[in-house]
Amino acid sequence: MKVGFYGHVRQYQNIQKEIDANIQRVLLSGEYVQGPMLKQFEKELAEFHGTKFAVGVGNGTDAIWLSLMALGIGSGDEVITHPNTFFATAEAIWIAGATAVFVDCEPQTKCIDPAKIEAAITPKTKAIIPVHLYGQCADMRAIKKIADKHKLRVIEDNAQAIDASGDGFKIGELSDAATTSFIIQKNLGTFGDSGALVTNNAEMDARIRQLRNHGSNKRNVHSYGFNSRLDDLHAGILSAKLKHIHEWNDLRIKWASRYTAGLKGAKNFTLPYARPGYRHVFHLYAIETRKPEQRDALLDFLVKNEIDAKTHYSIAIHKQAGYPWGKGARIVGSVENAERNAATCISLPMFPELKAEEVDYVIAKTLEWDKAQK
Ligand SMILES: *Cc1c(COP(=O)(O)O)cnc(C)c1O
Repeated sequence: MKVGFYGHVRQYQNIQKEIDANIQRVLLSGEYVQGPMLKQFEKELAEFHGTKFAVGVGNGTDAIWLSLMALGIGSGDEVITHPNTFFATAEAIWIAGATAVFVDCEPQTKCIDPAKIEAAITPKTKAIIPVHLYGQCADMRAIKKIADKHKLRVIEDNAQAIDASGDGFKIGELSDAATTSFIIQKNLGTFGDSGALVTNNAEMDARIRQLRNHGSNKRNVHSYGFNSRLDDLHAGILSAKLKHIHEWNDLRIKWASRYTAGLKGAKNFTLPYARPGYRHVFHLYAIETRKPEQRDALLDFLVKNEIDAKTHYSIAIHKQAGYPWGKGARIVGSVENAERNAATCISLPMFPELKAEEVDYVIAKTLEWDKAQK
């Protein structure tokens, strides 16, 4: 049986009428950039998060560096994050002109370890960027406490966890902004690039609206800015999909439970950890093999059996030679958890439109590999 990693086409077919209707609406409206559909989607997105504002931008990376820039963070400033995330988290700090400082992740959640943050704070530190990795919120309450104590800003990189929540806190509630990406492989994705951020800060909202549109919020009047907008066509597609995101994430959670129940007895890998009381929306279902050699062997075995498993992210950012290390970027303390994660994790197929027999086939093959290990 062939099992893919994504269900984009199945998802489109399931709600094709709703998506097509919104595309038609945009095409016939005659307004395609910063038009009424974008306005509508921004309103819906803010309501969804319970924040005052939502601003659509070109992609999830832009959402991060535009947020940093809107907060006045750039050259000479340091921003703390962790190295086991998609490269874009650190790339955005680099684009903003600031310096990334990496600390380790928690061994179980893989999100930034709040206990490691204070050792990395210097007089130059301006912000912390926790990533809600794999679909689970970082420990935002602990992070917020440290940020308040040291007067730091917090930007949540929420590219992977739309509709997740903590035990009593929401995304966007304990930070200056939460950014997200709508590239197709995210839990809420369109057929191309776009992103957004949500915030309760009116000044930040206004600043980013100006920055994204050539530094202009009034016709013919410009200051420093860029072109980073969310097209109305994508806004229409996302508006149709946003109505389904909660039920889609419920399905991800259902498949995650099925994987976990089926794989529980395995001896050669550990299963994802969901913190009690948190809503983990399983952007990825990542298991970790006991030894690095096993990861590559398991990946090979699954691919040979037509299962499209993948690694996320097998080179931690601090091992990326292309990062501007000469400019002060550094790691603080041991990052052994992040390094182990890069060497041993493997993501099994995870998307709402999976079928029970597909999940069961992945479970059976993964167990078959497990039993063959010495
Ligand atoms: C996808 C992703 C981004 C970047 O989003 P783009 O829309 O591709 O720019 C940033 N951070 C994380 C954690 C991501 O997974």
